[in-house]
Amino acid sequence: MLDGLRTTAGILRFAQDDKYPIRFALSKAPACSAGVPPAVPRASCPRVGAGRSHDSGRDARTTTPGRRLPLPFLRVSVPILLIIFLLAGLAGPMRAAQEPASPALALEYHLILSHPNLHLVSVEISAGKVSGEFIDFVMPAWAPGRYAIYDFAKNVQEFEAEGASGQPLPWSSLDKQTWRVDLRQAAGSAKVRYRVFANDLSGSFSQFDSTHANLNGPSIFMYIAGHKPDPLTLSVDAPKDWQFISGFSDDTSVRTFRAPNYDRLVDTPIEAGAETKLAQFQERGKTFRVAVHSYGEEDVDLSKLGEGLQKIVHAEMALMPAPDFDHYTFIFHFAPGISMGDGMEHLNSTQIVIRDTLSSGLAEALETAAHEFFHVWNVKRLRPAALGPFDYTREVYTSSLWLAEGVTSYVSYCSLLRAGLWTRDQFLARLSEEVRELEGEPGRTLMSAESSSFHAWFYDRAPQMQETDFANSTISYYNKGALLGMLLDLEIQSRTQGAKSLPDVLSMLYQMFYQAPQATYYGPGRGYEEQDILKAVNEVAGSDFTPFFDNYVRGTAPLPYNNDLGVAGLALRVTVPAGSPPSIGITTLPDNLGARIFAVRPGGAADRAGLGRDDLLVAVDNQSLATEELDTRLRAYLPGASVPFTVQRQGRREIINVTLDPPVPSSYTIQELPGSTPPQVAIRNRWLGGKN
Ligand SMILES: [Zn+2]
Ligand SMILES: [Zn+2]
Repeated sequence: MLDGLRTTAGILRFAQDDKYPIRFALSKAPACSAGVPPAVPRASCPRVGAGRSHDSGRDARTTTPGRRLPLPFLRVSVPILLIIFLLAGLAGPMRAAQEPASPALALEYHLILSHPNLHLVSVEISAGKVSGEFIDFVMPAWAPGRYAIYDFAKNVQEFEAEGASGQPLPWSSLDKQTWRVDLRQAAGSAKVRYRVFANDLSGSFSQFDSTHANLNGPSIFMYIAGHKPDPLTLSVDAPKDWQFISGFSDDTSVRTFRAPNYDRLVDTPIEAGAETKLAQFQERGKTFRVAVHSYGEEDVDLSKLGEGLQKIVHAEMALMPAPDFDHYTFIFHFAPGISMGDGMEHLNSTQIVIRDTLSSGLAEALETAAHEFFHVWNVKRLRPAALGPFDYTREVYTSSLWLAEGVTSYVSYCSLLRAGLWTRDQFLARLSEEVRELEGEPGRTLMSAESSSFHAWFYDRAPQMQETDFANSTISYYNKGALLGMLLDLEIQSRTQGAKSLPDVLSMLYQMFYQAPQATYYGPGRGYEEQDILKAVNEVAGSDFTPFFDNYVRGTAPLPYNNDLGVAGLALRVTVPAGSPPSIGITTLPDNLGARIFAVRPGGAADRAGLGRDDLLVAVDNQSLATEELDTRLRAYLPGASVPFTVQRQGRREIINVTLDPPVPSSYTIQELPGSTPPQVAIRNRWLGGKN
């Protein structure tokens, strides 16, 4: 996904959703800064009793009895034991891949899109061949790609169940997202019906209105506990003139689809409507479709978007093994009036919502697409072990989102450069911007890239009802991950004299884990663990990157920008722009009376003076801040000056003297070093494109 809270001309706005996580609720977003580099650009149910889901691929079904050896068994000779262990290890994954825990049900999902004005999607799920006393229907708590608990069950209403002859079946709520249907009178089949309220255009939620149905599966479809591996069909009733666009089929008239399992059902978003325009191109024998639903403009022209996408697809497919799909669909929405953009990766499609028109949001759309399309490999197929198959009932954890998201961003920047959609200067400017963001984060000394990944559930668009200190205590795994990607890429090129680079590591991981024997019902290959990344880097580079990972991935040591940029004859230049005001080390939100402190940088001038969050700065030296920007006012003083601030705190006003700090360096640029050696020039040109 891509998460964006970006600054444009000083106005904060949300943009794409898969690049920068939003670590502040919108109302808490810092609107301006004083002495802090300008605002940073970022913008499955615990089973009762069991404490785990049924189909996660790591549950009881994949554990053979042989793994729990009774003590007397240990008297068997070591070679025999070894064989038994090996067989047990093999048997688990194979059984999970080929044999569901219980006989597969005959599953038919049916959607009825008939009441757009109420935004209610009607869902029917028929389960044939049911047996036993009960069956559990479960609504996911989250949607893969967005690491936030949304509890989609909150929008479910009017649940009912019936048996083979239409007789009502009793049901009860097992927990907030599980409906347990009594099967004792079912006579072999159960059908449930419910309606889901859907009125959000995003990569995680769904929207059904008079213009379209944009459906993201986890927010619509329940699964049956223990039966996520079962194949199923989906059929849809919708207005006759609607066309259906999804990764299920490249025929827009098809309204019945097959999915090999629940995970694939919900990994295939559907855009259905009469307004969506479609174009397509071929690349390496595969069909790529571009679907555009535009709310901002009439007569949208898809040609520039299509041309740009083809260049991106061409550049990224050149980096990695050919993916296993016949067709891939970019589903775009251009919606200037929406509060937040989004971008979400799927196996053979992506949902991208741009908060702009196509004509003015083209560059953003292409940048988002470059990120989402590289997810075809990095995270959708080459995936951390927790990310496929999924436990939809609760949070799943990985420390590798810095690779899955941040490195995806880095590779997408390289691809935009290779595709000719960015110039060298744009590429280096974006990387400089990433450096500026990280270096502006007090949390960079507190939180590692792995820790930021692991704790994504706290800030990847999670609802924030409680005040947090994220502004000072966290970093973004997108941001630091992108920089780690850059440093690893340059370091690998340096250590291999240009023979290898970061995409070689990703290709190796892809072959090792995705193109490996199928380990679960979910699909090809298996997931990787954190330590596998370092192993692959070491193998590709032919040298030991353990200190790099200890310091910069698992640790919080300052990143060695100039060390690694130097191998390409480049250097990071950090300067104080002319006219910068002295620093007091705060970020603020605008207020009618002045500026309200949103975050205080630890150790800065405001901190030393005792200023705190929520303090309202109303005047400096008796000059009101209601009519003058704080930064403008601060420019009247020299660093070291002691300045009286009028502060309103808890309804009372007081004067607090603040001793101003020197301006903070906020200009970051990556520049070519004069007098670069031929090896440096060679790496630079290989990295940035160009002739030696
Ligand atoms: Zn992403
Ligand atoms: Zn649409």
